[in-house]
Amino acid sequence: MKAAILEDVKKFKISDIKQPIPDNNKVIIEIIKTGICGSDIHNWNAGTPKGLVMGHEFTGKVVNTGNRTDLKIGDRVTALPISPCGHCEACETGNPQYCPETWTNAIGLSLDNPGGLTKEIAVRPDMVIKLPDNISDEEGAMVEPTAVGLHAIHLADIRVGDKVLVVGGGIIGLVSAMFAKLEGAEFVAISETNEARGKKSVKLNVADTWYNAKDENFLKNILAKAPGGFDIVIDCSGNTKAVQSELMTVKPGGTIVLVGVSPKPIEFASVIAVMKELTLKGAIGYTKDEFKNCISLMANKKIDVKKFVDDIVPLTDTQKAYERLTSGTDDAVKIMVDPNKY
Ligand SMILES: [Zn+2]
Ligand SMILES: [Zn+2]
Repeated sequence: MKAAILEDVKKFKISDIKQPIPDNNKVIIEIIKTGICGSDIHNWNAGTPKGLVMGHEFTGKVVNTGNRTDLKIGDRVTALPISPCGHCEACETGNPQYCPETWTNAIGLSLDNPGGLTKEIAVRPDMVIKLPDNISDEEGAMVEPTAVGLHAIHLADIRVGDKVLVVGGGIIGLVSAMFAKLEGAEFVAISETNEARGKKSVKLNVADTWYNAKDENFLKNILAKAPGGFDIVIDCSGNTKAVQSELMTVKPGGTIVLVGVSPKPIEFASVIAVMKELTLKGAIGYTKDEFKNCISLMANKKIDVKKFVDDIVPLTDTQKAYERLTSGTDDAVKIMVDPNKY
């Protein structure tokens, strides 16, 4: 079956991989849609690991139920792509994101576990979740990134009336801004360097305003609306300059939640964090409850994530979709791939 395989730096090849063989354990899922994630873009930029088949955000239908007696062939499902051990302290307390095994065999993030940029995948049965009928295929593939935003917002601990700044207007930034409003934030701003994305965050009604981080008056502009600073800053950029400016835009006693990932050290003057008594938190992944919460929020029409989906492209256009998402000028934040079309 055809797959988009990571071949080199910023390069995919479309080639054949082996179809999963039913083993009466794993659930075999025929992919309907797969979303392209920011973390996939890190791998694409680095060109490693070579041979990786990405795609950890997906909707599919069951073609083999494995050991799940409650599932039927044809059921529409998504899955947590992670591989927690299930018996360590983290797993037993409902925090698989802390489990040392969580990313080891993650779907679409490890070589032995191809993701949704192909026709069929095999998934650990306990991670598969049936989708309600009133959730579209696109929404199903949006559950994973939505859960990342929800987890960050839970850690941000927003109070009604807070001012929240979200740094980075990619999909995680937009979802986080959406949840910040739901949590009662009075004013939600996005900072972005890509003008098209910044404007879009306001147009989609997830942010009240946006600031261009490239503007020389950026700090002045941003603090004009939030004198004294923002209660909460959520970093979805993983960028050194961005984090440095976050220390200036957060108010004393405020919280910075780091969702964006930087493989390199980020330098900042700790004196600012000390003098302001800041709280800095990392946020990774989600709990199973948060993942399920997102499904029910979608099913109950409490959130609309369909509006974030810019395009659905055939497998052969995977390369082009990555180029579009990293152009720095295009406003696309979420492109999905239909692996049945090529
Ligand atoms: Zn993701
Ligand atoms: Zn564990």
